[in-house]
Amino acid sequence: MNLKDIIAEIPDFPKKGILFRDISPVLRDPAALSLVVDELAKVIHPSEVDVFAGIESRGFPLACALALRYNKGMIMIRKQGKLPGVTHKVSYNIEYGTAVMEIQANALKKGQKVYICDDLLATGGTAKAAAKLVEKVGGQVSGFVFIIELTDLKGSKAIKDYKYNALVKY
Ligand code: AMP
Repeated sequence: MNLKDIIAEIPDFPKKGILFRDISPVLRDPAALSLVVDELAKVIHPSEVDVFAGIESRGFPLACALALRYNKGMIMIRKQGKLPGVTHKVSYNIEYGTAVMEIQANALKKGQKVYICDDLLATGGTAKAAAKLVEKVGGQVSGFVFIIELTDLKGSKAIKDYKYNALVKY
């Protein structure tokens, strides 16, 4: 099975000129979903992880599937205004302007090892912001996993201080 045959490509979404790589068909196909979890599990040693963190929103199912596989929990890194209680915020650059992501202040215990999950690595701005949030609340980032990497956008540079893996590269 080749994931590239299953990942959908939607031109001009969410705006003109962007080719959106949609993992929805992977999530709804049991064999493809298992393959993703099996392949990502090959690169994460159990000693490296106490908690999986999912980046809103397509990082959530990945983090949750991996958490179940490793018998760990998962935490959510969300867009501003979605998480209740005390939160920490980080702003980061997006194509036009800045965006803000948040984590709950009590999401982690000091020194917990965290693997951060998202569907796709593009410029790496989102991933780097997620790492900052994990560190702000006392976590230690062990690495990142993605299903897709858009190599031209050089996201790997933004997260060069961390280990990362992506299953499919364009
Ligand atoms: P970046 O911060 O530039 O690495 O962007 C990564 C985030 O934006 C991820 O959460 C992706 O879900 C989303 N993203 C960026 N580009 C695309 C794309 N071409 N197709 C699907 N999602 C994308």
